[in-house]
Amino acid sequence: MLVIGAGPAGSAMAALLHQGGLRPMVVEKQRFPRFVIGESLLPRCMDVLQDAGLLEAARARGYLVKRGALFLRGAERCDFSFAAQFTKGWDHTWQVPRGDFDETLASAVAARGVPVHFGCEVRAVDFAKGPRARVVDAEGKEREIAARFIVDASGYGRVLPRLLDLEAPSALPPRKAVFAHVRGEKRPGGEDAQRIWIIVSASGGWIWIIPFSNGVTSVGLVGDEQVFAQFPREPDACLRRLFEVEENCARLRGAEWALSPRALAGYSCAVKRIHGDGFCLVGNATEFLDPVFSSGVTLALESARRAARCILRELSGERVDWQVDYAAPMTAGTGVFRTFVSAWYEGKLPAIFFAEQVDQAVREKICSVLAGYVWDEKNPFVRDHARKVEQLYRLATAGRAEARGSEGGRERAVRSRR
Ligand SMILES: Cc1cc2nc3c(=O)[nH]c(=O)nc-3n(C[C@H](O)[C@H](O)[C@H](O)COP(=O)(O)OP(=O)(O)OC[C@H]3O[C@@H](n4cnc5c(N)ncnc54)[C@H](O)[C@@H]3O)c2cc1C
Repeated sequence: MLVIGAGPAGSAMAALLHQGGLRPMVVEKQRFPRFVIGESLLPRCMDVLQDAGLLEAARARGYLVKRGALFLRGAERCDFSFAAQFTKGWDHTWQVPRGDFDETLASAVAARGVPVHFGCEVRAVDFAKGPRARVVDAEGKEREIAARFIVDASGYGRVLPRLLDLEAPSALPPRKAVFAHVRGEKRPGGEDAQRIWIIVSASGGWIWIIPFSNGVTSVGLVGDEQVFAQFPREPDACLRRLFEVEENCARLRGAEWALSPRALAGYSCAVKRIHGDGFCLVGNATEFLDPVFSSGVTLALESARRAARCILRELSGERVDWQVDYAAPMTAGTGVFRTFVSAWYEGKLPAIFFAEQVDQAVREKICSVLAGYVWDEKNPFVRDHARKVEQLYRLATAGRAEARGSEGGRERAVRSRR
């Protein structure tokens, strides 16, 4: 069993396969700790980390506890608390510096006796005589590894999509993020401190503020070309200007860079298929949508869990329908997030979030999606996501004082401030 990449998807996969009695080996191109973006987790992650036996190792790191998401637009606020959810699930998760988090998971996997080879890059694969990978190890030596199965968890490295011609265009338009880590931020007190802040910027873009327990805070601006045309080109000057003009970023004024500002563009990606004879793709090696709802690590962990189950069954001689048991549920869960992402950029979700009043029962269903529980078919915002979001948006923008909904005969009230 060869796992390419020791990000969250690779470590969860290796842990689950090892737990299932297999002998996985992980090869990781970089040396850890290494920087990677994607620092705000969702409660759903906790379920997978627990199943993989990795939760306690992560908990021991004392990461900042994230209890919800706070959306801000000027003076308007919309606060989602994970304690008030439709789906029975975790009421919290963490905000993690990924260098530390990924190293923690990889070390926990290695501590169980799973070989994790750092500085070892997969350069080629061959499936003609069974799965094989050509790697260049930390000493620069080239060697071939034969395995019963290859799992591509290479994230942005996209090893198998590149080598097997599996790349497909993303359905989402290209966007860019300019981000940094800062130290010396003036943090808010109370519940606001245990939230990711997502700020709708007057520029048309949006901003994340993700504090960590080590005193460092991650901040980023996301948008298209028109958004960034309103800011200086240099990432450093771009973020400084943002802190000046955006009142909701006042807490960041005067802070120092802990990680120099940098830009990342065109990160959304997709693939033609996520499994084949002797291989599968998990995590970002499959598809990446968008950072706005912090879904990346959750989908990475969930895909590892579902694919690991299929591998364990297949290698024990069971016939596995990968399309039904792996691809279909991943497409379904990703599809819920895609609806939310599209509705966000179309302005529909902000219209809903900042409507004066949305019935609590509806808010709890939306909150469960935002918590990553996108496989709970009892939730109408999962089962019938596109229609439900559209319906709620129409109610919010029609400015109707009250609307009788179909949700178990409940009365839903949506009032718009506009
Ligand atoms: C701007 C932005 C903001 C984001 N914010 C969030 C967020 O707040 N929350 C969230 O959940 N997600 C977020 N994401 C998404 C998140 O970054 C990814 O979804 C997540 O890192 C995927 O994990 P992974 O394990 O699949 O891959 P990765 O974490 O990328 O790990 C893959 C590993 O594979 C290794 N590798 C690559 N090529 C090779 C090779 N040839 N041989 C061996 N090893 C190789 C890499 O070195 C790497 O360590 C964000 C993404 C962007 C672009």
